[in-house]
Amino acid sequence: MKRDRRPRRSCLGCNAADGQSALLRIVIEHSGELKVDRLGTGRGGYLHQMESCWESFLRRKSLYRAFRQEVTRPAKEKLVLALRAGY
Ligand SMILES: [Zn+2]
Repeated sequence: MKRDRRPRRSCLGCNAADGQSALLRIVIEHSGELKVDRLGTGRGGYLHQMESCWESFLRRKSLYRAFRQEVTRPAKEKLVLALRAGY
């Protein structure tokens, strides 16, 4: 097996680790809103570009570990709507 030395991140939906290029980076703003941010500044998490992962993400009870603050249900729903719309 070839060893991949690039950093691997876990999807906040399915929890599977993947290369950063396969994942969307999600960051939290001071307002508590979530958005996709390819620049990757600040605290954030990762999601696959897949509806099934977004659904799992919506069902997650706590995202504190990823964002160091709790994320509200409306904030998660807003993010997923943006993802579905092509963000
Ligand atoms: Zn996933």
